[in-house]
Amino acid sequence: MAANAKTWWQKPLRVIQPNLQVRDTDRIDPERLAQQIKDMSGNTIVFNVGGIYAWYPTQVAYHTENEFLPKDFDLLEEVIRACHKRDIRFIARFDFSKAADYVYLQRPQWFARSRSGEPEIIGAKRPGDWSLLMSTCINGAYRGEAVAVPVLDEVLSRYAIDGIFFNAPGYVPCWCEGCRRKYRAAYGTELPDDKKEFAPDWASSCMRDNIDILYAFAKQKSPEVPMILYYNLYRDNIFDRAKTADMLCTEPQDILSLGHHHIPEFWKPALSIKLGRSLPDRPVPFGIVHSSPGMDWRHTGLPPAEYRFWLSQIPAHGGSIWHSLTGVPDTIGDKRILETVGAFNAQVEKVDPYMEGAEPLSEVALMWTADASAEGWADGLLGRQIPFDVLLAEQAVPERLARYKALIVPEGMKYTEEFAANLAGFVRQGGHVVAEGAPPERKELLSLFAISGEIYESEPLAASYLRFEGQGNPLQKGLEQTELIAHRGKVVYCRPDGAGCEVLATLVPPFSPLESVGAPPERASLPVSHTDLPLALLNRYGQGTVLYMPFSLSHLINEYKLGEHYQLLENAIGIGLGETRELRVTGYHGLQATLFAKGNNRLVHLVNGVGRRPLATAIPLHDIEVELRLPADAKVTQVRQIISGSPLEYRVEQDRLFLTVPRLDVWECLLVECD
Ligand SMILES: [Zn+2]
Repeated sequence: MAANAKTWWQKPLRVIQPNLQVRDTDRIDPERLAQQIKDMSGNTIVFNVGGIYAWYPTQVAYHTENEFLPKDFDLLEEVIRACHKRDIRFIARFDFSKAADYVYLQRPQWFARSRSGEPEIIGAKRPGDWSLLMSTCINGAYRGEAVAVPVLDEVLSRYAIDGIFFNAPGYVPCWCEGCRRKYRAAYGTELPDDKKEFAPDWASSCMRDNIDILYAFAKQKSPEVPMILYYNLYRDNIFDRAKTADMLCTEPQDILSLGHHHIPEFWKPALSIKLGRSLPDRPVPFGIVHSSPGMDWRHTGLPPAEYRFWLSQIPAHGGSIWHSLTGVPDTIGDKRILETVGAFNAQVEKVDPYMEGAEPLSEVALMWTADASAEGWADGLLGRQIPFDVLLAEQAVPERLARYKALIVPEGMKYTEEFAANLAGFVRQGGHVVAEGAPPERKELLSLFAISGEIYESEPLAASYLRFEGQGNPLQKGLEQTELIAHRGKVVYCRPDGAGCEVLATLVPPFSPLESVGAPPERASLPVSHTDLPLALLNRYGQGTVLYMPFSLSHLINEYKLGEHYQLLENAIGIGLGETRELRVTGYHGLQATLFAKGNNRLVHLVNGVGRRPLATAIPLHDIEVELRLPADAKVTQVRQIISGSPLEYRVEQDRLFLTVPRLDVWECLLVECD
């Protein structure tokens, strides 16, 4: 598609969503607000329009009008006008997940019920004269033809909105008669009392059916208005979401109010965006970042250093930034938020034209199983600056896999017949597979992993070690000074089987139960210092290789975060990548690197998250060395840092480019322009 044929929502967007409070309605000055969005380099606003409150005079029954709306003008119309005047697109926010108690009293059948038939009340204990809010049933008429559809109809008929966004569109467990009937019809069995026993696709299909009603209506009424829908990194079906939306958004929250023992993992924004980008031929996914360190602290902002690090991951991994704020700039008491949003958007605005249409250039793919094992691998890949894509099981098809040199299969992956066949095909064609944990005992897999038929899973081991075997062991790179590294957890006892198989690491069994590891040291000798129980087997198969690790490296990374486990992870993948990687960056722990290609140009994002989180200061990194493979026959014309604007010196040797970034504060995007 030619650039000028793109609609507005297929171009780079910088979204600002002021979440409005009804009691501050009189403080919203349309012209002033639109100008403030513009001044913060936003080009799109998300503004409350309908659902729990109508922010305009509505005629739809049971659609509660915000009682604080101005009487002398139409606030919604004026905000849209003021935004359009400044070339700011207007996305209407709807929230049909809850409704006021007066609606419940008249249409009780629209509301979600507990097993015992009670409605779900939100904020019942809240002091002050607020009406009660109750959760609506996703399968009920409120969220479809009775209220949601007429509201969409009314808004699309009367206002020049540019897009539609649903807050809280997801499934909430409900045992109302309607849900019970629907469940019975779908599965031929009663809706279980325990939500854990619901059919696995129940929640997702309820959401799909509901959104489908709204999507179908909106598309028939105003086909040019895109609809935006949430997806989740976990427990979701992104394919269902994509079917009923034009654009997708996700919200990696940095909830510091959980306490620092429960701090959200640093990679949440990165992975959330990567999952969204796994769907081909769709607009770039939105990464929504709320300005607060938790909704309980929504009236204050994230510590600025932490906030900037969190935000930077969205564009650096190829997402569109969407700022969610509590209130409009005039009611936001923490001005650090506005300063951070404005400064960050100005950086994104510089990078946007170069990133538009750029595609990630990753040699590694990670099977995204949405569990701790996949998280551990993602942590390790980001920690070692290895660019990677995530793939869902449905996406691991030969033509897609052919793009990658290495594929990681975390513990717990379901090896369907199709997946196992695709895996073998990938290796046969020259790919490198890294797999961990217990595989199913199936003949073709065992021969791919080069292990014999009888495998036993151990009890959890402690005080055990991994021993590197042999000279010049590729797994030991950077760890040559030690013969052992720490191990803990379960091991799959197996035997190597096959001529092409080499054992690169073995298990040193526990030298002592945990209660006596420390004392006395006189007894600390290893009773067995060397076994032939493999912990890493390298198999040559067809044109490719498989590194099978019969233990859980991802668990070690999740649990202990030791440098040697990160090094081992890189070495395991490095076997497949060889010496000439697309990208190499100085291995500062906490530095993230991503690589994109746009034609012959290359873009390298560097994001600095070094330091103990939540980050209180941005600790600058110095002299980051970057080595990059150039496209065949390309001639480099210029290399510069897009955000700081400074050019960079570089040298080219054959097809490799070398440069040094003198200083990185939080985020920089390097542009390598080639002829
Ligand atoms: Zn229901």
